[in-house]
Amino acid sequence: MNRFDPSIEIQDYQVFGEYGGVNPSISDSSTFTFLQAETMEKAFSESHEGCFLYGRHKSPTNNYLGEALARMEHTEAAMTTSSGMSAIHCTLLQICSAGDNIVCSQTVYGGTFALLKNILSRFNITTTFVDIHDLDQVRDAIQENTRVLYCETLSNPLLGFAPIPELSKISTQKGVKLVVDNTFTPLLFTPANHGADVVIHSITKFINGASDCIAGCICADQSFIDSLTDVHTGLCMLTGPVLDTLRSAGILKNLHTLHLRIKQHSKNALAMARKLESHEFPVHYPGLESHPDHEEFGSLRNQEYGFGGILAFDAGSLEQARDLVIAMQREKVGYFAVSLGFYKTLFSVPGSSTSSEIPEEDRQKMGLGTGIIRMSVGIDNHAEDSCLRMEKAIHSIRG
Ligand code: PLP
Repeated sequence: MNRFDPSIEIQDYQVFGEYGGVNPSISDSSTFTFLQAETMEKAFSESHEGCFLYGRHKSPTNNYLGEALARMEHTEAAMTTSSGMSAIHCTLLQICSAGDNIVCSQTVYGGTFALLKNILSRFNITTTFVDIHDLDQVRDAIQENTRVLYCETLSNPLLGFAPIPELSKISTQKGVKLVVDNTFTPLLFTPANHGADVVIHSITKFINGASDCIAGCICADQSFIDSLTDVHTGLCMLTGPVLDTLRSAGILKNLHTLHLRIKQHSKNALAMARKLESHEFPVHYPGLESHPDHEEFGSLRNQEYGFGGILAFDAGSLEQARDLVIAMQREKVGYFAVSLGFYKTLFSVPGSSTSSEIPEEDRQKMGLGTGIIRMSVGIDNHAEDSCLRMEKAIHSIRG
């Protein structure tokens, strides 16, 4: 199963344990023995193809998960990391050096925004934030020293769809790498099929689906993944964000139910979005006809998975958002907590939490008002019951 074959779907991915177990055995070693002195020397100097060296470099368990993720994202290879943020920073620093520039969508996760604006800038890697829908602006922003065009498939938290096929044309023409964070839309959108060079996930979210660990991955061609693990120059090898193998084995098992979970998340989110719209909240959900990217995203996504589990709506003001989220938690709509992709519904007020890193002025430009509530809708069996609980919460604050 080691060779990439895009016709093999994640559901067909099969690995046996060393005694024929239906799950692969978990590698429990931080280091690996060599039987000949020359092989170890070769592993450090030229090639480590086919041999394991040290757990921070590669491990059988992380390789299994990497192979399954590569299949899911239709890339040649993939590697796991200890968090979504480490996947992002290792990717960017593998590509960029001091003096380089990144062109990035202005509507990205607050942590990504802060990494680019506050950390990479200290190492003289600049970022130009753009409206990713404005292709002329994107084209004009790419300069001689630009190395990366960066976006999220569906932006965080307002769910705007980045026009990836058009962005890919621009990035190819300009010779920069198109890096796409696909955390919100695993399985339901495949960025590599539309020209993305590198696809990143916070596995913490939908892929794992249990909100019990932090993890990430980088999916790309074999040479990029090899560059990340190079013993002398690889960002993953040398900054060390390795995923623990016990966690990795658990994530691989959860990945096998992702197709069912995404369909249920999408079904429940659409029901919730319609309910909120019926209560006259402005709702951002790509599955609604009112969403500006409904047609475009609708035609490019993988049809059987719906429109995803995330929605955002405007409660009107910060005060109203605060009252509503507490009422939602009281009425058992879900949990008032950051993060997403959990089997239960999670909600937060991003303007004062996950997007608070973004300055007020930039948030206004993005249309991220203080009353916006983001909901990651869970996979409860009866969407109508959750909608009724939501209605009770709304009535309790509207009186
Ligand atoms: N990308 C997106 C879109 C996210 O929402 C997050 C976290 O919320 C991250 C990346 C960072 O992932 P992690 O928390 O696993 O480091």
